[in-house]
Amino acid sequence: MAVPIDTAELSGALTGPTFVPGQVGYDEECSTYNLLTPLRPVVAVGAATVADVEKAVRFAAANGLAVAIRGGGHIVAAPSDNSLLITMRRMSGVSLDVEAASVRVQGAALWQDVLDAVTPHGLAPMSGSSSTVGVIGYLLGGGQSPTLGRHLGWAAEHVTAIEIVTADGRARRITADSDPDLFFAVRGTKGNFGVVTAVEMRVFPITRVFGGGLWFSGDDLRPVLNGWRRWAATVPEEMTSSIAIQRLPPDPALPEPLRGVFVLHTRIAFLGSAAEGNRLIEPLRRLAPLIMESVADLPYAQAATIHMDPPSPIPYVDRSIGLRELNAETVEAFYEVAGPGSGSTLASVEIRALGGALSREPLTADAIPARAVPFQVFAFGVGPLEQAPANRVALAELIDRLRPWGHERRMVAFLSPDEATDQSAIRLLYGEDLYARLAQLKKVYDPANMFRINHNIAPAT
Ligand SMILES: Cc1cc2nc3c(=O)[nH]c(=O)nc-3n(C[C@H](O)[C@H](O)[C@H](O)COP(=O)(O)OP(=O)(O)OC[C@H]3O[C@@H](n4cnc5c(N)ncnc54)[C@H](O)[C@@H]3O)c2cc1C
Repeated sequence: MAVPIDTAELSGALTGPTFVPGQVGYDEECSTYNLLTPLRPVVAVGAATVADVEKAVRFAAANGLAVAIRGGGHIVAAPSDNSLLITMRRMSGVSLDVEAASVRVQGAALWQDVLDAVTPHGLAPMSGSSSTVGVIGYLLGGGQSPTLGRHLGWAAEHVTAIEIVTADGRARRITADSDPDLFFAVRGTKGNFGVVTAVEMRVFPITRVFGGGLWFSGDDLRPVLNGWRRWAATVPEEMTSSIAIQRLPPDPALPEPLRGVFVLHTRIAFLGSAAEGNRLIEPLRRLAPLIMESVADLPYAQAATIHMDPPSPIPYVDRSIGLRELNAETVEAFYEVAGPGSGSTLASVEIRALGGALSREPLTADAIPARAVPFQVFAFGVGPLEQAPANRVALAELIDRLRPWGHERRMVAFLSPDEATDQSAIRLLYGEDLYARLAQLKKVYDPANMFRINHNIAPAT
């Protein structure tokens, strides 16, 4: 039950708008990419300035409200009863320092905003598979770039400064030198330590990528997945790949051969020459008859088209698991739960090959727990609320079936909203030592656990 609070004074003090339930604009302000997880805060603050964020955090503290944060709105943690939601849409600026190859990105800028700002200057950011994901939410979850990650590491490793409003309602600019503990803790824990109003990060002199997709029939799951896992173990760090078992909708926006069919979508991104890339992927082309291929030399501005992620909001439920290994028995497990004849209702079961620089220790310590994980699985089922229970069952079956090869660690970025209340899963994900250190820091920076509408690290007692 939401507590009644008087927001008039707060509204009068802010540059940006506020919205309370029932007010025009409330639903839109609280909407997210996942149509099944709208937020329902007591009040939504459309922050327009850093001072707005400071005032909103102080107001929440004074009224005993939790603070929820909406950046790009892609994987929201939990319903926001008794919370104040800070939406960052009105703070989405991107400014580039070409000489320094550094970009400053505000609270809810999307990867498309950064790609638009930096690629005309021959530079590339550590962007993800979708250009509509929020940059800061992605970075705070670690950020695995399916184009640059295996070559350059986790995106959060390339963040050089963070502007954050902490639970005391104070804005600070932190770096590895000024605040080593907080700088460590923020990168890998999403919104647990405050509202990030801007980050500065490195961008790289990369102008193109050889990339795209190879589509096979889902009926060829065994030869394709076995061939891909063997191939992925041999390729250089400049090559990144993933494979998704997909039941595609009959969507006219898809190319004709892909409408309404069951496919295996192999995605590749190679930073070397097109000739070398062609040579490297040739064995993949021979794994089974190809339905379609889109691999080409692309300007980096188009890197986020490779995965063909749905650009607009959809209703879905999701789960993820890290894998220690992917062997012939694991392939059989995928075949049984998601292959032809499985009756699976899942729209997509994706396996990303990590490794390379993603498995190396960073120069500056961070809280990213997924370094030792060679494969990350992310699966989702699409459909209205009535279909969510069946999709949750299918997701649970998939995760249970993969557990024998499961890794305790996995990507924070892909944690499901369904897991936000599962404290034991969050502890397991970070491991005892890292979780204990983060819980101590949470006690220092957010002792009342105001930032708890997330995959929460509870303050140490
Ligand atoms: C289609 C799709 C593709 C994806 N591809 C990738 C990928 O290639 N690589 C990868 O690593 N991840 C990927 N992700 C996961 C993505 O990085 C996370 O979902 C990320 O949290 C999205 O951030 P957001 O701002 O869009 O979402 P939001 O829902 O707005 O934020 C999610 C959480 O992040 C935190 N947060 C967001 N903004 C701020 C802020 N300004 N200050 C403090 N906390 C904040 C909050 O805890 C918030 O609850 C993908 C997700 C989707 C849905």
